[in-house]
Amino acid sequence: MTDGTDIGKILKRYWGFDSFRPMQERIIRSVLDGHDTLALLPTGGGKSLTYQVPAMAREGLCIVVTPLIALMKDQVDRLRSLNIRAVAVHSGLSQRQIDIALDNCVYGDVKFLYIAPERLGTDIFRLRVQRMNVCLLAVDEAHCISQWGYDFRPSYLRIAEIRKLIPDVPVLALTASATARVAEDIMERLEFGSPNILRGSFARSNLSYAVRHVEDKNEQLLRIINNVPGSGIVYVRLREGAEKVAAFLRDEGIEADYYHGGLPNAERAQRQEAWTCGRTRVMVATNAFGMGIDKPDVRFVVHYTMCDSLESYYQEAGRAGRDGRRSYAVLLVSPDDLQRVNSRIDNEFPPLDQIKQIYEKICSYLRVAIGDGLQSSFVFNIHDFCAREHIFTGKVQSALKILQQNGYLTLTDEMENPARIMFCVSRDDLYKIRVERNDLDHFLRTILRMYNGVFTEFRAIDENEIATVSGYTVEKVKELFKRLWQMRIIRYIPSNRSPMIFFDEERLPTEDIYIAPETYRLRKEMLHERFEKMAEYASNDVECRSRMLSDYFGDTGAEDCGICDICLARRKRKRTDEALCERICTELGSRPATIRDLAAKIGGDPQPVIDAVQRLHEEGRLATDASGLISAVRQDEKNGGHA
Ligand code: ADP
Ligand code: MG
Repeated sequence: MTDGTDIGKILKRYWGFDSFRPMQERIIRSVLDGHDTLALLPTGGGKSLTYQVPAMAREGLCIVVTPLIALMKDQVDRLRSLNIRAVAVHSGLSQRQIDIALDNCVYGDVKFLYIAPERLGTDIFRLRVQRMNVCLLAVDEAHCISQWGYDFRPSYLRIAEIRKLIPDVPVLALTASATARVAEDIMERLEFGSPNILRGSFARSNLSYAVRHVEDKNEQLLRIINNVPGSGIVYVRLREGAEKVAAFLRDEGIEADYYHGGLPNAERAQRQEAWTCGRTRVMVATNAFGMGIDKPDVRFVVHYTMCDSLESYYQEAGRAGRDGRRSYAVLLVSPDDLQRVNSRIDNEFPPLDQIKQIYEKICSYLRVAIGDGLQSSFVFNIHDFCAREHIFTGKVQSALKILQQNGYLTLTDEMENPARIMFCVSRDDLYKIRVERNDLDHFLRTILRMYNGVFTEFRAIDENEIATVSGYTVEKVKELFKRLWQMRIIRYIPSNRSPMIFFDEERLPTEDIYIAPETYRLRKEMLHERFEKMAEYASNDVECRSRMLSDYFGDTGAEDCGICDICLARRKRKRTDEALCERICTELGSRPATIRDLAAKIGGDPQPVIDAVQRLHEEGRLATDASGLISAVRQDEKNGGHA
């Protein structure tokens, strides 16, 4: 039914692209043939289209499980701009918004439902999904399902239960990073009908990787920037580092700026824009600079500090050279870097009792009482929390990951959060206020009708919707909320940008928090193992860097790239070797000599001469007589011997 031209037409009609990228077509065909499929493609390799195109070729809805809200929104916006109906369901929405979105998936003609994994376990989703006409289940970041993966999220395990509710729907699992073991695990946990892996290439033929061991990173950085024309990114680990390095570059007359998560939203957008259009040449940034970078002509990415895994390194370095032109990815390493990262890992890895303490402190900070919080989400400003509690951010992040792996809570990425309210007066008092203040009565009644539960906890509200239901304008709604807040009737958090914590379980007494020793040990081992690979990459001086990266991602058939520092050094060595051999043959061709005389004649270090002579002997191009005199064998003589 669906042949190549059909999916080609869909690609052209909706996305305007002329052809598929390598592997995309095979993955799409596999899905259309109804096979459960695990697709391994690098970041930027075009995974989204591999579920979007087959979904457009079929009737019905495609469910996409994905953990990052920012990416979810990005995809939904893109699809909508192509006139394809898509909705997102995640922990940053109000219950009502989720209801509406899911209803639209049952009754409306929604084509894509993006859903956060922690939402899969809710009754509201389970009941509706059975009534949806689903054609495909796509699982993005599929490595999150594996305990052997670094980003294990227990909520991913629920996907198998969802599959039972929509039998006969094929699953497409997508990831950019899976070891052989994780790949097996993904297929098992998702209950594949039969194993089926399609793996793309991780090689980037125009990207030249290099590592520079230096004492003075600034000097080296400057040299790179002065040698490579065009724009670039310099990645550093810390916010202060970004500011410092950018200041140094500006002092040297380079148009540089910095970017990190501590800058206000508008400021970040502005700086990114200035860099994208070329007004800023070099962006010095933390890893907060990444999402939505769509600049094809990035000529270099320099890592001023070491990443803690090759996954991040590959992804960040890979932002160079999207246009296919020659680009450079350089890692700067100073002598004590490796040691420093290793001890950082230990420092950031909190002991068990500290994890429990952090759990307790977070719950208090969020005002969640013991026994409360089940399946609720809370805005969590980690920097504010750490400043208040005097705990190192890295430690809190590690603790949150471990708590997440043990199924207690889920930390979402930073997102635009809806406004939230909670009444701080009793029902009785509120009733009195409504009687006394006629002007507020209609508004208060609308809120009470739309959001039950606002007496006990903060509820996400939708100011646009309140405006529609109440008949007021959005401005009027905001103004009324402000007034209620001034009258101390409600507590009001205006919409803001921050990560969220979703409680998979109610808050438990701290002594009941159980961290499985295996997950704890495994996590620490994994941190070190991952870093070990990064360290190997940094200290490697024999293997092609591109091949090393491909191998790491399980793409084992890759060839030497020919353009990384290792390949270039090898080629240069080979060229000088050949020149030396030519010289030796010429010398000995005119007059045989002993090895000692020969080495003296050529000069310099005798060892390369001795090695070259030995090789030439093996190749039959030289011969030594009984007295130790070496002479060149004429090539026509040698060939003649065989005739
Ligand atoms: P991934 O999820 O693998 O990291 P995406 O799906 O986000 O990658 O795709 C990365 C970029 O590549 C997107 O901007 C997308 O539009 C583009 N892209 C994907 N497939 C094609 C194609 N066949 N032709 C041209 N551009 C493509
Ligand atoms: Mg993706």
